[in-house]
Amino acid sequence: MSVESQKETLGFQTEVKQLLHLMIHSLYSNKEIFLRELISNASDAVDKLRFEALSKPELLEGGADLKIRVSFDKDAGTVTLEDNGIGMSREDVIAHLGTIAKSGTADFMKNLTGDQKKDSHLIGQFGVGFYSAFIVADKVDVFSRRAGLPAAEGVHWSSKGEGDFEVATVEKAERGTRIVLHLKKDETEFADGWRLRNVIKKYSDHIALPIELPKQVEVAEGEEAPAEEWETVNRASALWTRPRTEIKDEEYQEFYKHIGHDFENPLAWSHNKVEGKLEYNSLLYVPARAPFDLYQREAPRGLKLYVQRVFIMDQAESFLPLYLRFIKGVVDSNDLSLNVSREILQKDPIIDSMKSALTKRVLDMLEKLAKNEPEQYKSFWKNFGQVLKEGPAEDFANKEKIAGLLRFASTGDDSGEQSVSLADYLARAKEGQDKIYFLTGESYAQVKNSPHLEVFRKKGIEVLLLTDRIDEWLMSYLSDFDGKGFVDVARGDLDLGKLDSDEDKKAQEEVAKDKEGLVERLKAALGDSVSEVRVSHRLTDSPAILAIGEQDLGLQMRQILEASGQKVPDSKPIFEFNPSHPLIEKLDHEQSEDRFADFSHILFDQAALAAGDSLKDPAAYVRRLNKLLVELSV
Ligand code: ADP
Repeated sequence: MSVESQKETLGFQTEVKQLLHLMIHSLYSNKEIFLRELISNASDAVDKLRFEALSKPELLEGGADLKIRVSFDKDAGTVTLEDNGIGMSREDVIAHLGTIAKSGTADFMKNLTGDQKKDSHLIGQFGVGFYSAFIVADKVDVFSRRAGLPAAEGVHWSSKGEGDFEVATVEKAERGTRIVLHLKKDETEFADGWRLRNVIKKYSDHIALPIELPKQVEVAEGEEAPAEEWETVNRASALWTRPRTEIKDEEYQEFYKHIGHDFENPLAWSHNKVEGKLEYNSLLYVPARAPFDLYQREAPRGLKLYVQRVFIMDQAESFLPLYLRFIKGVVDSNDLSLNVSREILQKDPIIDSMKSALTKRVLDMLEKLAKNEPEQYKSFWKNFGQVLKEGPAEDFANKEKIAGLLRFASTGDDSGEQSVSLADYLARAKEGQDKIYFLTGESYAQVKNSPHLEVFRKKGIEVLLLTDRIDEWLMSYLSDFDGKGFVDVARGDLDLGKLDSDEDKKAQEEVAKDKEGLVERLKAALGDSVSEVRVSHRLTDSPAILAIGEQDLGLQMRQILEASGQKVPDSKPIFEFNPSHPLIEKLDHEQSEDRFADFSHILFDQAALAAGDSLKDPAAYVRRLNKLLVELSV
């Protein structure tokens, strides 16, 4: 035992304590994953060393034979993992094995419910890594030395996982990290060659680095045991370089968990080898669940980049657009230089053509998922639909393809779920319908009952119902799909084109003529509140609605801008009334101009309320309404 110096005891960050507690109590059903997590870290550490050694070959002092060794001691009840990767300095150890650096962790922890089943899902989406050692161990020792530091600057980290840990400086002859797990009494089954071998085969076969176990030898009594021999138990070749036909689904899935820091299987993947002008392999995955930090700006995203099998960087962001930031995967290029940097990636024209090819691969993969596995696609849409909706604005070239992947709630589907595709919509369009009709609003309940839908209901025309915050903005980027234009039914003068018969149109013109007088009276009464007053052809049950001007901001965009403190250009709605509604008929016959004015304002305010807007002067509305009610009741 080497001498320890500068020993200190430090407390875990609160989030680590919570994570440890949770892990110990909720991941009991799948304990063996601790080995996968630790091997995954060791493999990353070797990748990092290989990369740094490209520019500093001296880091490979003492051997370039990179590997992971797993051993055990039945009597002592320990399992030991050793790698000769990049290692950690004292500061690294304190930072990495005492805190969680991920942004948003505290928020994430607040979401934990205390319900172990639910929480174990959450924790899977968070990724547990090193701390999973405490699922099976009641004490963990880590000995590490950062490559390039002298042997005297090794570090020993030790903890029982209960709130604090010790660090001390120790001598460590080889670079890299050795982790000793002191197994809990009930977990000593892991101190066994067969058990370890099975777990490694099951979860870590895809690790590109040899994982070695001590060779099992029978030693007869009285004979001396031979010097320790090791054997490689995994396949030890980069998964993405192997032919697709030879790779089992389970291997793809386990590899995903390694690179995605995820506990769950992915929904889909796409593995490709590109040859010709550019040469690269790519393996792209769609996760089953959104990570907790999907909407955080600084959250990690991007692919793992390799150049000629050598790991170069995590989170290479330049290979996919932002709206596909949930995709996980690997790209291994033969064309890029080994000393490529983030800055170079941003400018390199090779990257641009790879980016458009990879983007297309992802969109194709999603199309295939939607077509072949609608249930899975539904789940994809729930998790990532909102992000995909950013696509049409960001990726002009693929607008039509992305539009085809969108799913909407619709009057043609009572579930209220976002499940209707534009292709579904067009397939059941009415004879002569050459537009795609939609309505945006606050909530499904509100738009579903909107007066704007009355004429559509009467004529049996389907309308898409869009209620996500991003929707109005999204629709401002979509002009058509499959040659059919989009029409916001709350906007402008509704023209149903061929869906209105010639008789309909003639009748509408006649009514408009007939009501010219009423239009003028209403204009005078409503004054500045409206930009226009006209007879409506879209109402059957409601007396009036407010339509938005063709070029004006919709309610949703206005509310978003206002909430962000921006000045919103003033726009006035168009007041449309239903000439055959009894209230309007009554209004038309009203002799007192005073009463006419009150009445008109009430109808205007009601129309605003029905559209989900708030009233500018609610007290005036109540006063006018009460006045009428009093007159009614006498
Ligand atoms: P993650 O791997 O998701 O970052 P972990 O908790 O598993 O989270 O590990 C935290 C950090 O500790 C790693 O990012 C890495 O910097 C460091 N680390 C863990 N294991 C090793 C190892 N075997 N060698 C070097 N560094 C390691």
